[in-house]
Amino acid sequence: MFRTGHYGVSLLVFAPIGYTLVSAGAIAPAFVLGATMLWLSMLPDVDHKLPGIPHRGPTHSLLFAALVGGLFWAVATVATNTLGAFTVSLGEASVGLAVFAFAVGFLTVVGHLVGDALTPMGVNFLWPLSGNGYSLSLTTADNSVWNYGLFVVGVFATAAWVSAALGVV
Ligand SMILES: [Zn+2]
Repeated sequence: MFRTGHYGVSLLVFAPIGYTLVSAGAIAPAFVLGATMLWLSMLPDVDHKLPGIPHRGPTHSLLFAALVGGLFWAVATVATNTLGAFTVSLGEASVGLAVFAFAVGFLTVVGHLVGDALTPMGVNFLWPLSGNGYSLSLTTADNSVWNYGLFVVGVFATAAWVSAALGVV
């Protein structure tokens, strides 16, 4: 999957969550989540640059998603320890900054994995537990119609859901 396709799939994964957050009045957290999912949507493909790490191996797993979430958690924990407690309001509920940060990191990686799972090579979500990749085999990674199509659908879905949540449409 190319960058455009990944942006689209990340937006598709984000759209229902963004809708839920915006509906609850949590506009800033929704924006932070969406922006981070786009900004770091290619993070797992860092394995192209890491010697000795196979492509779509360790960095394409739920374990890696939890690791990135854990890193975000740690940074947020240091920040709140230094600057004071900070809670993220999610409408009627609220969570600590570290919990929110974990979710942002985890979902960012999951958004990428879902995109790669559309291609025949698939993703081994449970690495290192199972050797078999999981694939929907909908499109090859370099199919430009799918890559651009997913991008357009992702942008449209996000715009539609978020504006519906805001009551614009
Ligand atoms: Zn990838």
